[in-house]
Amino acid sequence: MRDLPPPHARNLEQRDAWIHTNGTFAFGASLALIHGFSLAALLDDYGDTVAASEAFEAAHAADAQQRWISVTAEDRDRARWWSAETIDTLDPASSMPLFLRFVVYPAATRDPAICRQVARRIDALDPVDALEGDTILLERARRIHHMLVASGQLPPSGLPERAELFAAIAAAEAEDRHPTGSRSTR
Ligand SMILES: Cc1cc2nc3c(=O)[nH]c(=O)nc-3n(C[C@H](O)[C@H](O)[C@H](O)COP(=O)(O)OP(=O)(O)OC[C@H]3O[C@@H](n4cnc5c(N)ncnc54)[C@H](O)[C@@H]3O)c2cc1C
Repeated sequence: MRDLPPPHARNLEQRDAWIHTNGTFAFGASLALIHGFSLAALLDDYGDTVAASEAFEAAHAADAQQRWISVTAEDRDRARWWSAETIDTLDPASSMPLFLRFVVYPAATRDPAICRQVARRIDALDPVDALEGDTILLERARRIHHMLVASGQLPPSGLPERAELFAAIAAAEAEDRHPTGSRSTR
């Protein structure tokens, strides 16, 4: 893992230029807003760019680094998965990042308490690891996942089967060739 450069090392780096996170985590816009408003306030407070840079780093480096670690942890586990290592995506001990993505986040659409905690994670209102430390909520998400599987609303793995993916791709290609919703302009 790389160290974050101090933001005043060259230019003052902030937002995606400082800590880029994968867009699918939905961390980037929150960080961009927090960094932008914080920097403006610090520049007003200090009136000196070096002091403001140091205060900016002190305020945000730990959270930025934790978010980057969290995002790259999923990259690491996907690489394990793609290398044919067996990973149980329904077991947080096997892969917390994949459990969050495939079990907890989908459960958030069905449960207000989980939805709230996921939103707080995304919007940087909680430390990024708060959700993964909430074992009661994780267990609740797992129960919701099993309920969705039992009622046929989710496939057992939480992921579409290979045949379903090919069928979806074929359907999208067919739709591209002969759009059902389009009207003739003639
Ligand atoms: C497909 C996709 C989906 C995403 N979905 C989400 C999401 O749902 N939720 C979420 O939180 N985040 C999401 N993100 C991430 C989020 O958009 C970024 O993290 C965020 O916009 C970063 O803000 P920023 O200000 O650092 O950079 P940017 O928004 O990239 O702004 C940088 C600006 O600088 C300008 N610029 C660059 N070079 C120069 C130059 N030399 N001179 C002048 N101007 C320059 C660029 O044109 C740009 O306008 C997504 C990203 C992508 C790509």
